[in-house]
Formats: sequence, C-alpha cells, structure tokens
Amino acid sequence: LSQRIEEAVHKLKGKGRITEVNVASTIKDIRRALIDADVNYKIAKQVTDDIKVEALGRKVLKSLAPGQVLIKIVHEKLTELMGGKPQEANLKGSPAIVLMAGLQGSGKTTFSGKLANLIQQKQHKKVLLVACDVYRPAAIEQLKVVGEQIGVEVYAEPDNKNPVAIAQNAVEHAKTHHYKVVVVDTAGRLAIDEVMMLEIAQIKAAIQPSETLFVVDAMTGQDAVNTAKAFNERIDFDGVVLTKMDGDTRGGAALSIRAVVDKPIKFIGTGEQMRALDTFRPEGMAGRILDMGDALLLVNEAYSDEERKAQERLQRKMRKNQFDYNDFLAQLQNIKKMGSLKDLIGALPGTNKLLRNTDLSNESLTPIEAMIYSMTPQERQKPVLLRDANRQKRIANGSGNSIQQVGQLIKQFEDMRKMMKKLNKGGKFK
Ligand code: GDP
Ligand code: MG
Repeated sequence: LSQRIEEAVHKLKGKGRITEVNVASTIKDIRRALIDADVNYKIAKQVTDDIKVEALGRKVLKSLAPGQVLIKIVHEKLTELMGGKPQEANLKGSPAIVLMAGLQGSGKTTFSGKLANLIQQKQHKKVLLVACDVYRPAAIEQLKVVGEQIGVEVYAEPDNKNPVAIAQNAVEHAKTHHYKVVVVDTAGRLAIDEVMMLEIAQIKAAIQPSETLFVVDAMTGQDAVNTAKAFNERIDFDGVVLTKMDGDTRGGAALSIRAVVDKPIKFIGTGEQMRALDTFRPEGMAGRILDMGDALLLVNEAYSDEERKAQERLQRKMRKNQFDYNDFLAQLQNIKKMGSLKDLIGALPGTNKLLRNTDLSNESLTPIEAMIYSMTPQERQKPVLLRDANRQKRIANGSGNSIQQVGQLIKQFEDMRKMMKKLNKGGKFK
C-alpha cells in the first residue's frame, strides 16, 4: 500500500491546491490501495468519496503540500470510521460475564486466556475461565493448559454435553466462590451454521453476559466481514476481537467490519503468547492500513523536492539577471520560516549585508518585507522603476519607513544584482 500512496502523492507534487482535477486520480489510487488492504469495495468507495468532499472543502495551508494535506485527511477519516477512540470491554456485574463467539480457529480459546490474564494482572480481579466447547475432547484440555500458564482456574464438566447448562453452572460456581469476572470460551464451527448460531444464542440468553465479544481472524480478509455480519444479526454482540494481527495482514478487515456491523473493535491479538494482546487503537490502525510511516516520509520527500525545484527556478532567474523583489521576498520568507540566516547567505550573494540589522526571528513583518509589500507588482518585477524619487517616497509612506531606508534597500538590492551578474560572468553559478 505504501507504494500506492507514494504514487498517488507523487501526482500531487507541485500542485498548490487540492482541486477537483488534481485530486481525482489520487483519490482513485487511494481507493484501489484500500481495496488491496482488504477493505470491502463498497466501503472503500464510500470512504474515498467522503475524503474527496472533505479534501475539496479544506483550505490548504501554503506551507503544506497538497499530498500531505490529503494523507492527513485520509488518516483522520479512517480513524473516525473505526470509532475514533479506543473502547473498553464492559466488565460490570457481579460477576461480570464475558462471552466469546466466533468460528473455529479464530482464536477464541487463546483470547479467553489473554483476557483473563489481562484482567487478573492489571485489575487484580479473581477470574474464572469456562470451557463450553463440548464437541472436541481436546478443547477442555487446551483451556486447562492456558489456565495453568496464567494461573487462572478453569471450570469444566467433561461429561456434560450441554453447553448452556455448563455456562449456567459456571456462573453459579463463580457467584458462590466470589469470582469477579467469568470468561466463557465456546465452540465454533468451520463455517457458519444454524446449530452453532442457535447454541451461542441460547448461551447468551441464559447467562446474560455484560460483554459478548466476536472473535475473528484478521487474516481471513473479506470472509471476516461476512462472518461478522452473520454473527451480529444473530447474537448482537458488543465488540470485536481481531486476532492474528501479527501476520502480514494490513488490517483492512478492521475498517470493513466496523463499517458493516457498526460495533467497536476492542482488542487485537498479536501473537500466540498470553501477553500478545493489545487494546484496539483506531488511530494506529488507520496508520497501519495506510502504511503511514512510509507514506509520510514520502510526503516529506515530495515536499523537499518541491523546494528543490523552487531553488532551481530561482537560480535560473539569477543566471538570467531576472532576480527581482518577488524572488527576494520569497527567499526572505523562506528564511524566516527556517529561522536561520545561513541558507540565505549561501543562496543569495550580497544579502547578508542587506539583512544585517533585520530581526528574522520575529513573526511580524520586517521593515524590508513591509517596503516590498508597498511596491507595485511592476516595481517588484522591474527594479529600475524604483530609481524614481516619487515612487520611493510613496513606498516610504506606505510602509512606514523613512526615504533613507527605502533608498538603502534599493541600493543594496541593486548591489546584490550586480554581484550576481559578476558571478554569472565568472561562471560561479552552476
Ligand atoms: P479457537 O478455535 O477459536 O478457540 O482458536 P484457538 O484459540 O485455538 O486458536 C487457533 C490457532 O490460532 C492457535 O494455533 C493459536 O495459537 C493461534 N492464534 C490465536 N490468536 C493468535 C494471534 O493473535 N496470533 C497468532 N499468530 N496466532 C494466534
Ligand atoms: Mg477453542
């Protein structure tokens, strides 16, 4: 994706503003890039349409390249679409009950252990893990291994084939033994089927969890969206857990799921170990979808490339003795932005003398800027016009400077041009 964004931003290089024309192909590229990151087509289209409207309406700061502004808008939009702020699991109730739902292999058992571990470690609450997968004999064993690893008790009834009854018994057990949180791991099938849906819906109705989490493998891409939709329609879960985010998935599923089911993603799994659990952060995920690190770097490159071109334009003008007050003003403002004189001294021979008494660290207009602003466009382009005393007087009045100061600026500017001419003859400008 970073390469796509790179190319997209490339097209905006050197454009001063975001316009319908220069943004159209970039938007198309970003849309394609989102689809490549597993974002569902309809959502990618909707997102980029929104981004376009926003980009066109947004004023582009002069100091920012349009590509930079556009990426910022895309990043903001994606963040907003994924819920803006991180969302916590609801652990209210005594005990609080968390129910897992999801396909087989999605990572329910692993996540149950991670969550129990987190609650115990961070909140110092007594947690009970419950094994409700009655179909695979190994399932209970797997949860017990996890429980031992993290030091959390596991409730299981190996001879009971009714998961609803096991869940209810476990909650009773938790109440009498003062557990604060119950984490219920359930069975899943390889595909969505009616038996599984009915079972999870019945467990939910029986134990009334404060939090039902839908666990989904982020690597499954588009399928994740369909699964999320089916589960949400049936059990109306409270939040999503995206597992296997340590794989090379770019996380487009996060955006699609959020958009389709409108439920917050709360956690991401980032590995098989019990500690590999993170709170879902929309901002970070937006960056991951966009591969922002790289893209931002490229924007910066694009920007300095633009500056480099401006510098080349300037040198061309200097070579042709066309250097005028507009160029001088632009340089002056550049230097003010950078807050240093050094570059100007290097770039413009003779300016150090001119700027000796000028405070460039100041945000306000320097007297030199004020005088140049008081010149007409013709005067700025044709400095010879300024030999006229009436013009000098007008500029002095307009800028609040004395005629002597105006005279000094003009003299020094002309000296500077002469020096450039000499350097040109000597072949010093390459
Ligand atoms: P369940 O069938 O839904 O209970 O899924 P499991 O918890 O048994 O996980 C299935 C497989 O995925 C196991 O091999 C886990 O170790 C692995 N797994 C689960 N979560 C993650 C994760 O966040 N990252 C990685 N790399 N593997 C995971
Ligand atoms: Mg399992």
